[in-house]
Amino acid sequence: MKNLNELSLLQAREGLLAKSFTASELLEATFKRMDQVEPLISSCITILREKAFSTAAELDKLGPDPAKGLWGIPVTVKDVFLTKGAPTTAGSKILQNYFPGFEATVVTRLKAQGAVIVAKTNLDEFAMGSSTEFSAYKVTRNPWNLERVPGGSSGGAAAGISAMEVAGAFGTDTGGSIRQPAALCGCVGLKPTYGRVSRYGIVAYGSSLDQAGPLARSVKDCGALLAAVAGPDGKDSTSSQIPLEDYLNLSPPDPKKITLALPRELWEGKFDPSVKEVLDSALQKIEEAGIGLKKINMKHLPYSVATYYILAAAEASTNLARYDGVRYGVRDPGDGDLLSLYKSSRTHGFGKETRRRILLGTFALSSGYYDAYYKKAAQVRRLIGEDFNEALGQADFILAPVSSISAWPFGSFTEDPLTQYQLDIMTLPLNLYGGAGLSLPAGLGGDGLPVGIQVTSRPFKEKSLLEMGTLLEEIFPSLPHPPI
Ligand code: GLN
Repeated sequence: MKNLNELSLLQAREGLLAKSFTASELLEATFKRMDQVEPLISSCITILREKAFSTAAELDKLGPDPAKGLWGIPVTVKDVFLTKGAPTTAGSKILQNYFPGFEATVVTRLKAQGAVIVAKTNLDEFAMGSSTEFSAYKVTRNPWNLERVPGGSSGGAAAGISAMEVAGAFGTDTGGSIRQPAALCGCVGLKPTYGRVSRYGIVAYGSSLDQAGPLARSVKDCGALLAAVAGPDGKDSTSSQIPLEDYLNLSPPDPKKITLALPRELWEGKFDPSVKEVLDSALQKIEEAGIGLKKINMKHLPYSVATYYILAAAEASTNLARYDGVRYGVRDPGDGDLLSLYKSSRTHGFGKETRRRILLGTFALSSGYYDAYYKKAAQVRRLIGEDFNEALGQADFILAPVSSISAWPFGSFTEDPLTQYQLDIMTLPLNLYGGAGLSLPAGLGGDGLPVGIQVTSRPFKEKSLLEMGTLLEEIFPSLPHPPI
C-alpha cells in the first residue's frame, strides 16, 4: 500500500471512513513527509502542527462522520485566508505578526466539513506575482527541480501538493495564481467562477477579479474541495445565489459530443520547445479520443495583459490603502509626525513589486488619467468578455495552454516585470471574463518539468468543467512521483 500521504483526497476519505486508519495516523504521515521535504521546498509560511494534532485527536474521539465531506483530511490554505489564532501575513512584512480577529468563510467551512488545516502556504506578497519570488518570507522551490520557481502566486500551495505533503490546498486566482502554479508543479487547479466561493476574510488584491479555489492531484479531489466551500455567503455581497451543482459525482462526457475551441491568439505564440512538444501530443491525444477541436479567434486577447495590469493595479492601490501603519501590522514611526509614519510604514512594509503596483494603480486612477487608463481598460475588459461569450457559443469549452514556458530558474524575471507580466497572457483573460477554469497536467516535458493545459467554461458551469477534466485526465499520461 502507498504511504498515507500519497493517497488522493478521495482515497484518504475512503480509508478514514472505513476506519483503515485514523485522522491522527493520516496526519502523522503528512507531517512526516513535511519534515522530510519542507527543508527542500519551503512551501509553508506557518505550520500549525499542534493545533492540527489536537483537531485530529478530537475528530478521532468522535469517530468518522460521512456527512462531513472532508472529515479528517489535512489541507493547507494560502496565507491570504484569515485564520483565527494563527498569523496571516499575505506574504508581506507589513502584516508580520498580524493575528486576525476573525476568519475567512472558506476556512470556517473547511473546518465545518471536518478538514484539518495543517499550514498556511507561501505566496508572492499580496498575491502579486507569478513565481512566489516576491514573498517577503522565503523562497519556495519546485519539487520537480529545486532550482526552479514553483510558479505563483499560490506557489506554496502547488509545491506542497505536488511534493505530496497534503492532498488538498486552497489558493486564490486573480489572474492565474491557481492555474499557473498548478501547471508548473504538475497538479490540478480550479479557478471557480467569480462569486462561486466567498471572498470574505481573504486579503483583497483585485476585488473584481479575486476568486478562491482548490489545488489537488486529481480533478475529482478538486471537486470534493470545491463542494466543501462553495455557495452563497451573507458576509460577501459578491458571492452568488446561483444554485450549486453536485461536484462530487462526476462522470466524463462522451468525447464525440464535445467540441473544444482553440483560440489562435493563445496557441500561435512562441513556446519553449519542451512545452510545445507536450502540448502538441496532448492535442493529438484529444483528437484521437474523438473530441472535436475548432480553431477560433478571440481578437481582443492580445490586449488582456495591458487591461489586466491596469485594472488589477488600480484595485490593488485602493485595497492596499488600508495598510497605513496605524490600523494593521508593522508600524514605522519615521520622524514622529503622522505623514512620516504613513510614508515610513508603507515604504518599509511593502516590497518592491507591491510598491510598483500601488504606484501604477494610483496613477491609472488619478484625475486626468482615469479616462485614458482605467476607463479604457474597463471597456476593453467588456470586449474580452464578449470574445468569451462568442467562443463559448461555438464550442463547449475553450482549451488553452497555461504557460508558454515551464518552471524557470530563480531570478529570471525579477528585474524585468514587463516580461513576467507578459507570461500571464494565457491565464489573465479568464479573470477579466469571470468564468471558470481548470488547469491540469498534460505531461512531462523533455526538461523533466510538468506542462499544464487549461479548459475554461461559462460562469457557474463548474460541474461540466470538472467532468471534462476527468475525461482529459483519462487521455493524458499521469505524472510519476516527483524526484524528491
Ligand atoms: N501574476 C498575476 C499578477 O501578478 C496574477 C496573480 C494572481 O492571480 N494573484 O497579478
